[in-house]
Amino acid sequence: MVESTHSSSPNYDKPLPEIDADNREFWDSCKRHEMRLQHCSACGYWRYYPSPICHQCGSFEVEWRPITGLGTVYTFSVIHHPPVPAFSADIPYVYAVVELDEGPMMPTNIIGVASEDVAIGMRVQVTYDDVTPEVTLPKFAPVESS
Ligand code: ZN
Repeated sequence: MVESTHSSSPNYDKPLPEIDADNREFWDSCKRHEMRLQHCSACGYWRYYPSPICHQCGSFEVEWRPITGLGTVYTFSVIHHPPVPAFSADIPYVYAVVELDEGPMMPTNIIGVASEDVAIGMRVQVTYDDVTPEVTLPKFAPVESS
C-alpha cells in the first residue's frame, strides 16, 4: 500500500473530481478505502463511471457493491511532460486504463513500480491515495506475488 497523508492536502493543486449526486457513493467508498461500483440489479452489469441508468439494459435499479480491487493493465502511457505544472514533480508517471476484474475500464495511475516495468496485461490491485480530506483517488499497483 502506498498512501499519502492528509498533511500535504492544503497544498494539493492538481485537478480534483467533481463530486455530485450520481458519483458521491463512489468517492465516499474510495475515502473508506473499500471501493464500490454500481451493479445493475436487473442485468448484473457493473458500471463505471457512475450513472443513474444501466448502459446495457436501461434499468434504473442499481446496487452499490464492493469490488475485488483487482484488475489488468489494458493500456498505458508514460507521461514525461506534465499537463499542468502541478504534475512536474511526478514525471515520469504512468497514466493507464485498468480493466477491472468486474469488467469496467478505469482511468488511473500505476504506482509502486518503475514506469519502464509497466506492461499491458500486468495484474494490478487498487491502492488509495488520500489527496485531500474529501477526496481519495484510487490508483493501482502491481499485485504482490506470494
Ligand atoms: Zn442492466
